Amino acid sequence: MGKALIIGCGGVAGVTIHKCCQNSDVFEEIMIASRTKSKCDVLKAKLDGGKTKIHTAQVDADNTQEVIDLINSFKPDVVINLALPYQDLTIMDACLATKTHYVDTANYEPLDDAKFEYKWQWAYRERFKEAGITALLGSGFDPGVTGVFSAFAQKHYFDEIHYLDILDANAGDHGYPFATNFNPEINIREVTANGSYWEDGTWVETEPLEIKREYDFPVIGKKDMYLLHHEELESLALNLKGIKRIRFFMTFGQSYITHLKCLENVGMTSIEPIDYNGMQIVPLQFLKAVLPDPASLGPRTKGKTNIGCIFKGIKDGKERTYYIYNVCDHEESYKEVQSQAISYTTGVPAMIGAMLVMNGTWQKPGVYNVEEFDPDPFMEALNKWGLPWVEDFNPTLVD
Ligand code: NDP
Repeated sequence: MGKALIIGCGGVAGVTIHKCCQNSDVFEEIMIASRTKSKCDVLKAKLDGGKTKIHTAQVDADNTQEVIDLINSFKPDVVINLALPYQDLTIMDACLATKTHYVDTANYEPLDDAKFEYKWQWAYRERFKEAGITALLGSGFDPGVTGVFSAFAQKHYFDEIHYLDILDANAGDHGYPFATNFNPEINIREVTANGSYWEDGTWVETEPLEIKREYDFPVIGKKDMYLLHHEELESLALNLKGIKRIRFFMTFGQSYITHLKCLENVGMTSIEPIDYNGMQIVPLQFLKAVLPDPASLGPRTKGKTNIGCIFKGIKDGKERTYYIYNVCDHEESYKEVQSQAISYTTGVPAMIGAMLVMNGTWQKPGVYNVEEFDPDPFMEALNKWGLPWVEDFNPTLVD
């Protein structure tokens, strides 16, 4: 059916690229373009020979003109941005200049300010509308599938959703006392930052990891989880009618928390540069250098993830609760696409979002979050492409 330009060739992109090649009726031709071209070439060598035709290129996505030139030479139907959040705006600018649809999995974050918000990308709405192109924001798992689950609940089960808890549990075991599943710098910054949730029209801020709950998750069992700020709270607070409270919880094991607290107490998680033997070093960056590389965890991670949403609201005047979740197995993901479940659960929805934009199902000029489209085709595709979901109409709620 068409052509996709995939920017970035890290953990998530690797999964999306495998999935595009599995879905070759839609993705007839792809271009993998990233900062380090050799990584793109390794993947091409592995996947070549299937029906999808694969090209590779070097690109610095911080440079809009380089992205424009690449788009003009390849002429894709859609650009799938799987680089880092810092590149969102330059790639959106290139899509505008060339009138090409845009899909990503994480909202823009300025390099010098760790505050991630949608305002910069939402500011492109009118320009994308005028250009007649679609930007689909946050088509990963969370954000992404959590927004699709919300739209699905809203469409089929509720007149009004009042409470939403998003629960992200990882029961994976990589065998190390302490390691992070993705970029340690970004992970540790996220976890050591203040938490927040949305309630009655305002943000309520908490101390880092201040709010803790234990939850007995289907399939993976009892886990401690902690309230964090997360980007989909911002768009769901606007797009779910009647919503009163949205919270996001992520699980962390005791060993992870103990190590993190110790590292924090001795100053190793600081982002303030210090003087060391006449050199300026950032403690957190040094810590990253001594921790296991997240990519090396893939072959040794066992166990499963469980990510989903618990809703409480009303239907036909009666109170109703509903839980929908996906369980993903680290070892099975690795067997299929040589990535653990964290990248798998993000890379599959990125392929699905791009497919729906490309085939016209989710095309609408402007800039949209996933929950603003009809969830049904996306839900169907999740079952088909490796992320089946389960419904529970009588879940235990989080207090
Ligand atoms: P990685 O660090 O593994 O990969 C990032 C890739 O982008 C690398 O290949 C890197 O190149 C490339 N890149 C970085 N800067 C540039 C640049 N200026 N120009 C071109 N390429 C560049 O990250 P992940 O794959 O783990 O994450 C990808 C995205 O997915 C991130 O935005 C992340 O926030 C998001 N994400 C979303 C989730 C969700 O559920 N919504 C969950 C997890 C991640 P190089 O190889 O040279 O370093």
